Amino acid sequence: MSRFRAPSGIALAVISLTVLPVQSSPMTHGIDLAGIDHSVVPGDDFFAYANGAWIKKTEIPADKASYGPGEILVEKTREQVRGLIQDAAKGKPQPGSDAQKVGDYYASYLDEAGIEAKGLSPLKGEFANVSAIKDKKSLSIYLGTTLRADVDALNSTNFYTDNIFGVWISQGFEDPAHNIPYVLQGGLGMPDRDYYIQQSPKMDAVRAKYRAHIATMLKLAGIADADNKAQAIFDLESKIAKTHASREDSEDVKKANNPWKRGDFAVKAPGLDWDAYFAAASLKDQQNYIVWHPTAIVGTSALVGSEPLATWKDYLTFRLVNHYAGILPKAFVDAKFAFYGTTLNGTPKNRDRWKRAIDSTNANLGEVVGKLYVAKYFPPSAKAKIEAMVKDLLAAYHARISRLAWMSPKTKEKALAKLATLRVGVGYPDKWKDYSALEIVRGDAFGNLRRAEMFEYKRNLAKLHEPVDRGEWVMVPQEVNAVNLPLANALNFPAAILQAPYFDPDADIANNFGAIGATIGHEISHSFDDTGALFDAQGRLANWWTPDDLKHFQEAGAKLAAQFDAYKPFPDLHVHGKQTLSENIADVAGLSAAHDAYMLSLNGKKAPVLQGLTGDQRFFLAFTQSWREKEREEALRQQITIDGHAPAEYRGDTVRNLDAWYPAFNVKPGQKLYLDPKSRVQVW
Ligand SMILES: [Zn+2]
Repeated sequence: MSRFRAPSGIALAVISLTVLPVQSSPMTHGIDLAGIDHSVVPGDDFFAYANGAWIKKTEIPADKASYGPGEILVEKTREQVRGLIQDAAKGKPQPGSDAQKVGDYYASYLDEAGIEAKGLSPLKGEFANVSAIKDKKSLSIYLGTTLRADVDALNSTNFYTDNIFGVWISQGFEDPAHNIPYVLQGGLGMPDRDYYIQQSPKMDAVRAKYRAHIATMLKLAGIADADNKAQAIFDLESKIAKTHASREDSEDVKKANNPWKRGDFAVKAPGLDWDAYFAAASLKDQQNYIVWHPTAIVGTSALVGSEPLATWKDYLTFRLVNHYAGILPKAFVDAKFAFYGTTLNGTPKNRDRWKRAIDSTNANLGEVVGKLYVAKYFPPSAKAKIEAMVKDLLAAYHARISRLAWMSPKTKEKALAKLATLRVGVGYPDKWKDYSALEIVRGDAFGNLRRAEMFEYKRNLAKLHEPVDRGEWVMVPQEVNAVNLPLANALNFPAAILQAPYFDPDADIANNFGAIGATIGHEISHSFDDTGALFDAQGRLANWWTPDDLKHFQEAGAKLAAQFDAYKPFPDLHVHGKQTLSENIADVAGLSAAHDAYMLSLNGKKAPVLQGLTGDQRFFLAFTQSWREKEREEALRQQITIDGHAPAEYRGDTVRNLDAWYPAFNVKPGQKLYLDPKSRVQVW
């Protein structure tokens, strides 16, 4: 439930940027007037009106799949983080200190010569473990050792893991006082089942390239008969894919609430030796689970029973090489990028090594870096300003909910209770994670990553024996994003998104409400959307809506889904209104609440005209300029296929659902974005 699409584990190029100072011209505290295309009528195509001139003059840098303010901030933040890490590493830090960890992790990743010299030797131990698999039991044990806490079904909505299953540990659906493991599907090398199943010339071509990619990686690893093995691995993955839930079904919480006891696995999902699997995964004594994707757990387990051992062993060998390719010799790095960067995302060039090193450090030592980052770049004054805006937004929601004509008093009472207990985190967590158990060794890039993955897994397993911590963050402070945590009824606004153009302490309040205000409103709305409506103030899965209220909500949702289904960026592909519904509701609600909050902040005074624009004009332009983005075709197709967020362009057109947008830009019937008042979606 985040602001931006989640960078899936394999979409290498989603967050990768280069600063182009000429194009970004960030120093005008206000609307980018030069980015407006005055040849477009705002009511026909508001995204093109607000951003057309910028789109025309901007080229997507060669190492990126898309480009816009989000990517520019990622780039800027990455530069800042590099400086912090380099400073921290100066002057011989104490072994085991934060400075030693970030410095050595980064330096090891950067050490291409050292990595080249080692060849595949870091993987030797794991290759030997795969070779030693001799029966279904030892296969099950090995698979158990691959389980990691690398998915997140409700917060970052990351449904991807390349291990056969992934685990997400969070409070129970029906028992919010205790944490429980949620078991998710996995095991594919391409982003989603659609890539294996969908019949189209585009997907046929991607599949052929993926088979070739598997063969390339096996050949690089010196494995004989690579082409035949690649075909068998591809066939096995295709069989796994057929058991997978679709992205749309993955988002349906009601389909995910399948409590299984430990003993149920062997009965309901025969094939895998579950005793061996759970023991190897350090879950021997865990009795209660929630199986998010039952068809895949059943189907994949059956494939462990039915498919030849030799195919599984080849599959696991490929998984290892593919997963760790980024810290193997250059030939592996390049081969992986050719498929995941270029074929899947259309990105011509890999980003520089140091950028990948920073991204990996951020991913694996996130809060260690985050602590350094906020100390230098997130002053208390910025935190205070955002907290004041959050207060205004919460007040706007309170007023909107209270005056809703269609909602029953009973449901309103529950909604307001939920609003009152919402925990809003701004900038960084109150309590930092403890990384003392994670050992980082200079010169051991592979070992560092392996240990970091295992550290994260163990840290999550420990939560099974600890009280639920609603203050835990799921994003790191240096991440340009924001997120709602439905079970914790909490929001995280990392420090890095609280920068211009989203939030500019020197800009007019209309701009800030249109940009970051709408994002804050977006995240608050997730507590009350089609998913949020399923969780009460304690995060318990309990529908707190009356049937009539839910019916009204679903009707409004259906209208919005139809609005988005009609957007067609390619002749053969339209936006999926249902798959993106939660996010689109959040955009409409967030923008509406931000507009209310802006009005409240004026205290009845008339907004000043600045830059030749009225307050409302600045508000809406700031919103739609915050969504400006250019995206490569492959990346856009991937996003439409697997992501819960609609493409940025259509999110920028959310304005058409707000009455105030019409007079602000003189929008008239007959213009393409015009909606008659009945067709404008107003959920909250
Ligand atoms: Zn969202």
